[in-house]
Formats: sequence, structure tokens, C-alpha cells
Amino acid sequence: MRTTNLILSVLALCMISLTYGQRRKNNAPEPEPVPIAHSPKLVVGIVVDQMRYDYLTRFWNQYGEGGFKRLVNEGFNCKNNHFNYAPTSTGPGHTSIYTGTTPAVHGIIGNDWFDKELGKDVYCAGDDSYASVGTTSNLGQMSPHRMLTTTITDQLRLHTQMRGKVIGVALKDRGAILPAGHTANAAYWFEGGETGNWITSSYYMDELPQWVADFNASDKVETYKKPWTTLKPIETYVESGLDANNYEGLQKGETSNAFPHDLPAIWDQNGQFDLIRRSPYGNSITADFALAALEGEDLGADTITDFLAISFSSTDYVGHFFGVNSKEIEDTYIRLDQDLARILSTLDEKVGKGEYTVFLTADHAAIHVPSYLMDSKIPAGYLDMGGMREKFNTFLQYTYGTTDVVRDLSNYQLFLDHTILANLDIDLDDAQEAIAKELLSYEGIAQVYTGQQMWENQYTHGIPYILQNGYNQKRSGDVLLVPNVGYISYSRTGSTHGSPQIYDTHVPLLLYGKGIQQGSTVNRTEISDIAPTIATLLGIAFPNGTTGQPIGEVMKFD
Ligand code: ZN
Ligand code: ZN
Repeated sequence: MRTTNLILSVLALCMISLTYGQRRKNNAPEPEPVPIAHSPKLVVGIVVDQMRYDYLTRFWNQYGEGGFKRLVNEGFNCKNNHFNYAPTSTGPGHTSIYTGTTPAVHGIIGNDWFDKELGKDVYCAGDDSYASVGTTSNLGQMSPHRMLTTTITDQLRLHTQMRGKVIGVALKDRGAILPAGHTANAAYWFEGGETGNWITSSYYMDELPQWVADFNASDKVETYKKPWTTLKPIETYVESGLDANNYEGLQKGETSNAFPHDLPAIWDQNGQFDLIRRSPYGNSITADFALAALEGEDLGADTITDFLAISFSSTDYVGHFFGVNSKEIEDTYIRLDQDLARILSTLDEKVGKGEYTVFLTADHAAIHVPSYLMDSKIPAGYLDMGGMREKFNTFLQYTYGTTDVVRDLSNYQLFLDHTILANLDIDLDDAQEAIAKELLSYEGIAQVYTGQQMWENQYTHGIPYILQNGYNQKRSGDVLLVPNVGYISYSRTGSTHGSPQIYDTHVPLLLYGKGIQQGSTVNRTEISDIAPTIATLLGIAFPNGTTGQPIGEVMKFD
């Protein structure tokens, strides 16, 4: 027995040294074990409200090294990232980023829409069954109950047995509530008005935590009640249009739309703290509050992944009022870059460099101010809604004997009264088609589709594909209108969004940090790809309505 054992041992030793010898001969390095999933201590989702992709490139030379440039240079840049549905607005945008699907599935078909069952307009995050927390106003009566599917943040909560914390932060309630999902620990938003407080809903809690109460009690928000001047000398802002021009709104109490904007002087005429929303300081307050949440909630402090969903809303307010080509928008992005740098360096310090993952995207982009395009000889314009309504009512009266067959027009969708049509013995499909054809003859309307077409066909590209992804059979309307490229229904100053056109769909997607490759792609990615990408990175289940695809090239798995 002893001899046999000895022989076996010697044999085994020989084999080991043989294998070892062969390995050494190859001189190949030991392969790194491939992780099945990455577990950052914290995921930070950043949505920049109304950020066009070209803000990244147009203002590139103005940015410092620690913000946008750090995310692009050290992370992954999806240069051809698009919304794949319309309407391109804030509620659907935030929901689609976090659910990995489109309004056809998640049900958030607008910021507001006409609810066919209730027969009235509803707000995407409104919920009367909950009370405000942190305010006596009704601005806290909110919840994500109209969102029909789970978010990536919900899936993280489920995966970690509710141990991973999820917090949503934004000036806009919908920008905080929808990303944070149904199972969030909390979502906080800005009350504005007289108080400038951060508030929430009884959906999450009965009382503000101490760190929020302390933040509200501090004079942090008051420090931003100051004149808005440009961060750098205005003559260096060569990437935007003339400061005083006809394409920007004029704030109440001001005699010029040029810098400086003396916010304290026009404070009371412009809704007090609500004025802060329409300035870059609103983003700085959001960054301050998000960093207070990081500290107050100990996010990223242990090995269980937490999620902080931040949305910067001031970019949208500034874009709506001053337009995408204004000095105001340029200054807002230069200052946002500094706020991003501040967030990243704090994450390095508190969570640790390489221990967190960040993505940055937008909830929609925006159009160049059409009046500026017109002055630049580019086809553009404004829909004459009043004139259209008059002509349309005449048509309805003549064709159906009543204008009551139309219940509502919202988000470029017409809602017909199915009961009245049935009583008049008019086939719904026929009515949809006749009304669509009538509206197509109106100036500024480029394309029309009917609900029936959305039901019957499977569109794979172009405008009808985008409309179909936004079309929810239970919630959407009967006739869909597409204005001419470059046309909007809006004031003659400022920019807006909502259309299926490329200027509203093209937005940045930057990924950075743990598990992320360094690089870029010009392949088309879609907004619904973000949630399954993050899910794959974390090794957690996809949100339950996901229709997007993980973007393989951004992840480090080899
Ligand atoms: Zn928005
Ligand atoms: Zn907007």
C-alpha cells in the first residue's frame, strides 16, 4: 500500500510540474476571472432634462476636465442614441429610461393626457390618494401609480431583498418619482414658491427624514437668490447666438432678455423660488441636495448596490424660455459641467473611485427656435392652432352634425367620443380615417395616422415606428398628427419638444465607472436599451416590460 501511495504521489508531482512547466513555457499570463456581474456600491443615473446630443460637442471647449469630459474620455459615449417613440416629453422620457420600454408598454403616454375612462385630463405622477409630506400645499400628492411596469430601480430592490437603497431627486416631481420606481425608499422634489423646500409624498413616508428637514432649515437655497451673470466673460461664449435677440422670452420685470438677469430684483413677479428653476442655480441646488442624500442615506457605504437617480430640470426650463441657441443655455451647461464635476469628485471621496457606475442621458432633446430658423432661411414655422380648430369644427359640424364627436386633443393626438359615434351609427374606423384626411389638408400638418393603423400594422422604422412605440392601445387617441419638420405649436420665443423628429430624439448616453469600457460607438442605440444594459451589468432581472436590448460593447465582460 505504502509503495503504491508513494508511486501515485510521485506521479502526481510529475504531472503538476509538467503542467506548470508547460504554462511557463507558453509565458501566457493567467487569465483574469470573468465576473458574471459587476457589483458597484452605487449606481448614479443622471438625466439632463432637454439635453441635445450636440450640447456635448458644441460646448466641448468650454467644459472643464472633471465633468462631461471625464465621463466621455474615461467612459463610453453612445453618439447615436435616440428616443424611439413620441411624444418626446419629460414623463415618458424618464419612465422609458428606467423601464427599458416605451409608452406602448409602460403606459406613461405624456406628462398629461386625456384619460378615456375617467373622461378628464390626468397628470403622469398625480395621485390624490396620498398626502403631501413637508408642505401644506398639494404639491406632494404624487405617486408612480400610472406607470404600468417595473423600473431598473425596482428590479434592484427585488434582487437585493429590498436591501439596496433607491432614492430619486429632481426639481420636477415626475423627474424624481418615475425613475425611483414603485418600490423606492424615497423620491424628493422642489416645492419652489415661497419656501424653496424639498418635499415628498406619503406614498414613501409620513415624515421627512432629519437630513431633509435639516437641509430645508439651512440657508442653502437662499444663497442662490442672487443675480445670474455668466460664469466666464460673455465674449468668450462664441458657441451661441447674440445675447439680446428676438428668439428669447422676456422675464417679468426685465426690460431686456440679455445678461445680467437680476433675480432678486424680479423675484416676486416670477414666483419667488420658482424663478430659480429657470436658472442654472436650480441645477446646483439639485446637486447640493443629491449630495446631501448621499451623505444622509449612506448611499454606497456597503457592498449591496444602492441607486441614486438624479434629474437636472433647470436645463429644460432655460431651454423653453431662452431657446437652444441662447447665451443662457450655454452658461447653464458650463455651470452644469461644474456641478457634475463636484458630484463625481464627491463620489470618488465618499464611495471610492472605481466603486460606482454612472450613466448620463436626457429625457428628450429640443428644437432650434423656429423663428430663428425662419430668419436663417430654413423651413420652419408655427402651427396656427386657433385657425385649425375653427376650420376643423366647421368640418365636424358639416360631416357629423356636431363637434362633440371629438373629446380632446393632447400630445398631437385626437380622442374621439366612441359612444356618440356609435349612437350616430358611424363606424369608428371610417371616422378616424375621414378626420385624419381632413387634418392632413391643414397647413403645417405633414403626416397623419389612425389608431386603427397602429393596431393593424407592425412598423419597423421611420416616423410610424416611433409613433407606434408611443401608442398605448388602452390609453392613446384615435388620430395621430405629425407637424411638418421644423414646426411646433408654441410661442414665437424659446424651444420645445414632443415630436418624433430627430432634433427631439437625439440625446447623449454616457456610461462611466465600474464595469464600463472606455470607448464610443456610432451604432444606433435606443433609450429603452439603457435599463437592460444596466440590468446586465448588475446581473439583475430586466424590468418586467423591457423591450430594449443591452448594449454589449459598453460593458467590460472579457
Ligand atoms: Zn423634460
Ligand atoms: Zn420641456
